[in-house]
Amino acid sequence: MRRNWNRSGWLALAAVLILGISGCGKPAQTQVDDAALRDADSDTADWITYGRTYSEQRFSPLKQVDEQSVGKLGLAWSKDFPEIRAYEATPLVKDGVLYTTGAWSIVWALDAKTGAQLWTYDPKVPRDHGKYVCCDVVNRGVALYKGRVYLGTLDGRLIGLDAKTGAPVWDVQTTPKDGPYAITGAPIIVKGRVVIGNAGSEYAVRGFLSAYDADTGKLAWKTYTVPGDPSQPGESEALKNAAKTWTGEWWKLGGGGSPWSSIVYDPDLDLVYFGTGNAAPWYDQSRGKGDNQWVASILALKGDTGEQAWGYQTTPGDNWDYDSTQPLLLANLKIDGRDRRVIMQANKNGFFYVIDRENGAFISGTPYTDVNWATGIDANGRPMENAAIRAMKDATIVRPASEGAHNWHPISFNPQTGLVYLAVLNSASLHATPKDLKFNPHDQVTGVDRAYHGPVMDKYAKETASGTLLAWDPVARKEVWHADQPFPKSGGTLTTAGNLVFQGRADGKFEAYRATDGKPLWEFDTGVGVVAGPMTYSLDGTQYVAVMSGWGGPTVLNNRPIGKGKMGRGRLTVYTLGATGKVEIVDLPVPPIPMPTFKLAVTPAQVKDGAKLFATYCARCHGANVVSGGEVPDLRRSAESTHKSFQDIVRGGVLHEFGMASFAEDLTAEQVKSIEGYVLSRAKESAMAEAKAKH
Ligand code: CA
Repeated sequence: MRRNWNRSGWLALAAVLILGISGCGKPAQTQVDDAALRDADSDTADWITYGRTYSEQRFSPLKQVDEQSVGKLGLAWSKDFPEIRAYEATPLVKDGVLYTTGAWSIVWALDAKTGAQLWTYDPKVPRDHGKYVCCDVVNRGVALYKGRVYLGTLDGRLIGLDAKTGAPVWDVQTTPKDGPYAITGAPIIVKGRVVIGNAGSEYAVRGFLSAYDADTGKLAWKTYTVPGDPSQPGESEALKNAAKTWTGEWWKLGGGGSPWSSIVYDPDLDLVYFGTGNAAPWYDQSRGKGDNQWVASILALKGDTGEQAWGYQTTPGDNWDYDSTQPLLLANLKIDGRDRRVIMQANKNGFFYVIDRENGAFISGTPYTDVNWATGIDANGRPMENAAIRAMKDATIVRPASEGAHNWHPISFNPQTGLVYLAVLNSASLHATPKDLKFNPHDQVTGVDRAYHGPVMDKYAKETASGTLLAWDPVARKEVWHADQPFPKSGGTLTTAGNLVFQGRADGKFEAYRATDGKPLWEFDTGVGVVAGPMTYSLDGTQYVAVMSGWGGPTVLNNRPIGKGKMGRGRLTVYTLGATGKVEIVDLPVPPIPMPTFKLAVTPAQVKDGAKLFATYCARCHGANVVSGGEVPDLRRSAESTHKSFQDIVRGGVLHEFGMASFAEDLTAEQVKSIEGYVLSRAKESAMAEAKAKH
């Protein structure tokens, strides 16, 4: 009865006995079942669910690698993946097999000791579905259960795979087919069901969480996060009540509230917790006033039925893209002399929340970065807003940025230090909406004026961004230490009983810090920027630490300043004490921008129009001002042949298999011509500027 063992010598003794009797060198294989998931903390060898345990503390009791020995940590093995995109997954490990995912929802099963590939599975996501994701074609990982691997795919499917072979057992469409929904998050297992969310609140979607029978793939329950068309019977009392907090005709653009990342479970309370995304559109002036329940919220559902148990809205009437989908961390804390079962979240909106997870009661909300949209949270848990920021009379500079003071990146809690470790992005966004706003249901419906170039632009250009690794005391509600980062963005965290915190950075360095005081103890250059969360496991008495690397992510697919840092394909690096492996550091050369030879008859007015259209439709992948981060083509380098096919590519979709979707439903031929004129003008400007800089 493994679940009753503690981490003492009993386990080692039992292992010796089992090995002695069987005469076999391998430990007995056990299934990931409900009991194993419930008791994942005592399984120190494996990492069987997204956040290691149901509490998602990402704390490992392993301590072979500790503050004394970590200096000897070296590369045991690595694996390179096919794409220059963001790799956000937390690998899972069970019985010596490591399961991880990458761009386009591809899964790999690897020998956890050597990295040798056991199998790979490509769900063949239509590449033009990349149009329907705000923030890269990513996947954060799989769930394991009873000999199967469960995968959510970018095009909204949930797939059960045979864990031994990678062969699909079932494959169901969880979202409206071909709609602007996506799955980027990892599923979790709740009592024989696979619970999965979906993304899309930047588009015209209505968010929901659903649960499927792990054995058969049959839908068990589906719970919407926001109310639908009020002329229809509401799905639940909770949604009928939520509808009272909306005005206007919100359902026509879906309302948003997508649960696109964190899902956690408390088996004692039998509650499933998850966070919901922003409202669609972003601004209440175009969607109607009101709190808009349950966007930007933390919700608790009953595990058996999906019925809402409670909800807490972190940003009522969200106006700043403050999704509440950041990691949810469960812990038992003593607060003001009382033992509380809490849920914690470092929210995009800049506040660190501690909520009672039994009933959703607000305990505390404390700013952990610069915040200007609210002055604090009142005793009832409601933010005290800065009215001028919400009014958005003109373009408005808002802190934190819409990318969030913290986003999906895993956070960790070390019960030995009592601290939460998280990446903090201290930055601002410019929020503006055009006067003549018309929504295009085929594309994003944020309502943001991405082409804004008015008077506030100069002030916004002076805003700074910085990043830290923060150690936060959730009881005392204050910082204990922080480490400044060279680039603003950095990755998820892992903490261990070795008094360590591991974190990767945008410059590709993978770091270990002392958990108690933040002293840097070790680093390794993975060669590729890191955004994912690290994990650790143990095999035959050796502790391994693993992390995924990969450029990409939100804000024009970049996790580092354009033109800085080393460029490379996704990579998994795995470390042990005493290992001395090396990775290839690929520094892709950036050739000069050639002077375009293609001639296109466009007027200056068309070029100006093209600039606006490019900012609205193209910049989120190809880069602001036609400067790509390198993950997708820099259009300033387009060859003459590309320009000759420009209409066929943009409207005809001839490159859709390579991820360039058709924009025939979004743009007329004349508009595409204007965009091309703007691209050519930017190419000329850049070529001339580079030639001048040479002399
Ligand atoms: Ca969002």
